[in-house]
Amino acid sequence: MQLIIASNNKGKIREFKELLDGFGFDVISMREAGFTDEIVEDGDTFERNAQIKAQAVFAATKSPVIADDSGLEIESLNGAPGVYSARYAGENATDKDRCDKVLREMENVPDGERGARFVCSICLKFSEDEEYHVNGTVSGFIGREPVGNGGFGYDPIFMLNDNESMATIGEDEKNRISHRARALEKLKDTIKERFNDNK
Ligand code: IMP
Repeated sequence: MQLIIASNNKGKIREFKELLDGFGFDVISMREAGFTDEIVEDGDTFERNAQIKAQAVFAATKSPVIADDSGLEIESLNGAPGVYSARYAGENATDKDRCDKVLREMENVPDGERGARFVCSICLKFSEDEEYHVNGTVSGFIGREPVGNGGFGYDPIFMLNDNESMATIGEDEKNRISHRARALEKLKDTIKERFNDNK
């Protein structure tokens, strides 16, 4: 059975393919499924945006879809960038631009008050009337400069401890502890049951 990932983000697609390895699905991106429409993510929660993406791709393909909406919440910025994580430094900005913007905004935030978390909300849409929602988070703090070359997005400035950022720990470790991995973990049993029902 085919499972479509409703994302164009290469980092996310790679992680999902890795995380869903072994389930027996043929996991493909929405582009590989022929879906190239733009999806307007205008929800004000991660949950709603994940649902918007899953529903848009399902409506076009009629195939099971997994969508996530994820982002970074920083305590001292009152939860920003939050649902605006992807667009935080404007539409055509790079990951580096977004990281630099956060570092600039937090220049005067003292150590000990730099707490942050990644949040991931997943919507799995199996059929017209069957939709599952789960959330996962991972906590850390924002460093003073980018560290490491792995991962994507805000990973280089998201510190897990004084020495390691999300961009230094390697893909396997990230896929064990990340917000996306934790959310997906909660869906594993459902996915297995549904997959076996449909085989
Ligand atoms: P979305 O594609 O609308 O869910 O936007 C998510 C944005 O949040 C991405 O473009 C990244 O900037 C950020 N983000 C989500 N997950 C991660 C992650 O695992 N590491 C670093 N940044 C992330």
